[in-house]
Amino acid sequence: MNAAAPQPLDLDAIRAQFPILTQKARGKRLAYLDNAATTQKPEAMLQAIDHYYRTSNANVHRAVHELAERATLAYEGARDRIAAFLNAPREQIVFTRGTTESINLVARSYLQPRVQPGDEVLLTGMEHHSDIVPWQLAGAKTVAAPVDDRGALIFEEWLRLFSPRTRLVAVAQISNTLGTINPIADIVREAHARGVPVLVDGAQGIAHLPTDVRALDVDFYAFSAHKLYGPTGFGALYAKREHLEAMDPWQGGGDMIRTVAFSGSTWNEVPYKFEAGTPDMAGAVGCAAAIEWLDALGVERVAAHEHALLEYGTQRLQEVPGLRLIGTAPHKAGILSFVMDGAHPQDIGTILDLEGVAIRTGHHCTMPLMERFGVPATARASLAVYNGADDIDQLYAALMKVHKLFS
Ligand code: PMP
Repeated sequence: MNAAAPQPLDLDAIRAQFPILTQKARGKRLAYLDNAATTQKPEAMLQAIDHYYRTSNANVHRAVHELAERATLAYEGARDRIAAFLNAPREQIVFTRGTTESINLVARSYLQPRVQPGDEVLLTGMEHHSDIVPWQLAGAKTVAAPVDDRGALIFEEWLRLFSPRTRLVAVAQISNTLGTINPIADIVREAHARGVPVLVDGAQGIAHLPTDVRALDVDFYAFSAHKLYGPTGFGALYAKREHLEAMDPWQGGGDMIRTVAFSGSTWNEVPYKFEAGTPDMAGAVGCAAAIEWLDALGVERVAAHEHALLEYGTQRLQEVPGLRLIGTAPHKAGILSFVMDGAHPQDIGTILDLEGVAIRTGHHCTMPLMERFGVPATARASLAVYNGADDIDQLYAALMKVHKLFS
């Protein structure tokens, strides 16, 4: 292992690989700072999907002809690539439509059959709705540990909330609203010491932190390809083998069965028993290509780049009069949520848009967190590998316009 500091990224070379970023927005240079919602796509990933459809498209697993063989190789090869990225065995990677579907799968197939009235899922106060509502739909009570004024999880309070009814712990690797990085290794250690499995919502983590699901010893890990420079509508669930074996399928159809008879059916082996119907082959190929691309840059280098930019952005935003950052946890990834005196986040977003700056405004699917901070909404700028100080400067200049208009 090379212990030297990560080499800086060549930003121009990276940007040149994202065709969409060369466009203007509202006639201005585009500063795309809405990466927590979705990331843009590099040429290598666009080409992989195009190449798949041009050369290899056929339905997988079910035919002997050459194209079907090629499609199956591409699809299963993608599983190898995705598994390697997370340091997971390939058969423990279940393909889904994304984080939301991965969490719903665990809620329906793992939790629901085991849950008794009054059983609890222990969360944090910063979870995304898709890490709250599926547990409620599965019949569990959701209990959330508070976050402090900076937006960090209050660990002792979280520990205090364990009860004999706690069936599962679920936690975001990184908060999509605050940028807080949660202490996953500590959480897993304490939950396991109490015999409780842990699901990690990796939607915001996977592209921004090196992630080794086996070293972290998580029971479940959910992510979406589209937040990782990959396509929309595709994602995966990693789960420990014992859980996958013990879980029943949640959707029935083609591919997930071993035998079907009117008297009853039997299931395919893992992970296929959770993959009913024709899957998103191109999605898998695109996701693997995005991972290949990101891995070649090195997630650690990317994280270092984004961290430096976060520090610069934090400093610049604090220079805007009347701006208050929401989320200043000591361990933080590249997300800058804020409110401004006199200006509604919606107005901030609209004015920034006129300046070519794309950010997100609203509750970011974290309504309980908005209540915690006493705000109806925030404006949120979120960083990715192709962002630079120029994007932050453009954001700052646009925010100064907001300040002048509303003060
Ligand atoms: N969890 C977090 C922390 C997220 O940021 C998101 C996406 N905003 C999700 C879950 C849901 O991801 P998807 O919509 O891709 O299923």
